[in-house]
Amino acid sequence: MRRRQALFYFPWLEFKRIALGVKHSAEVDITDNCNLKCRHCYHFFGRDEFSKKEESLEVWENRFRLLFESGVRFILLVGGEPALRIDVLMLAHRIFPFIFVITNGTKRIPSEFAHRLFVSIDGSREVNDHIRGKGVYDRVLKNYAGDDRVVINMVLAKENYTELEHVVRLSVDSGFTGVVCNIYTPRNDGYNPWDLGDGDRQAIIQELTRVKALYPRDLLVSETMIKWYSVADHRGHCYWGDEALHYGASFNPRRCFADNADCANCGCLAGAAQSPPMMIHQTRELRSILYEV
Ligand code: SF4
Ligand code: SF4
Repeated sequence: MRRRQALFYFPWLEFKRIALGVKHSAEVDITDNCNLKCRHCYHFFGRDEFSKKEESLEVWENRFRLLFESGVRFILLVGGEPALRIDVLMLAHRIFPFIFVITNGTKRIPSEFAHRLFVSIDGSREVNDHIRGKGVYDRVLKNYAGDDRVVINMVLAKENYTELEHVVRLSVDSGFTGVVCNIYTPRNDGYNPWDLGDGDRQAIIQELTRVKALYPRDLLVSETMIKWYSVADHRGHCYWGDEALHYGASFNPRRCFADNADCANCGCLAGAAQSPPMMIHQTRELRSILYEV
């Protein structure tokens, strides 16, 4: 579906959600496995080893068909590392009109998969590889340099937020579509390797504001989203948590990316970007984020 059509299609889906209760968006872990072990990863908290169990393509086809038949048209595929299941990605490609993938970028997703890829880079080579593992920065660039499906997805914390301008410059120089950011969000079950105080959040907000002024077209975080990020506590209402569907790799329903995401200390891009009233204030960023297929 072309980008312009999509901008009209979403209001229609949203109308159906409000009028008939048909949820149109879902987020799904398609694997619990990953080939990295990043310092800040919540996914493997409490586990010594990554899961080796994978579901068959047939199981995934049944799950995707169920979602499509229930009204889901936009699906965000995450993990673990979704590029470890190219077969499941290509299956989703045949079923859903809108797909976003969050990937660590170390395994190239084939060009036929013409959808938006959010590829994680958390700083310069030195800082990124300290967080994500030796050689990861160069592998990502080798796989994706010049690929306009890519939007860099950066997690901001006090350890790396001063790297934001470098990452936006890298996006421009590498031919990527731009950069989005999450502020590091802990879990509410005690997992918090990157403790973020109020002062840290404010420093991150100032840096986002500064870099947005320098690169308004490449940093795809709108002023409205920056305001959302400046408040940590979103326990009252969150469109992403309340109105989208969320599933772990066993297809277990959950509220957000992690079972225990701490809504009182949220910095999730999905929370900041998703609600329709917010979307009205960020059409420029949205146009860039939607991929032209
Ligand atoms: S790439 Fe993602 S899932 Fe894998 S270890 Fe890093 S943060 Fe966790
Ligand atoms: S962690 Fe953030 S994005 Fe997720 S449900 Fe809670 S408030 Fe929403």
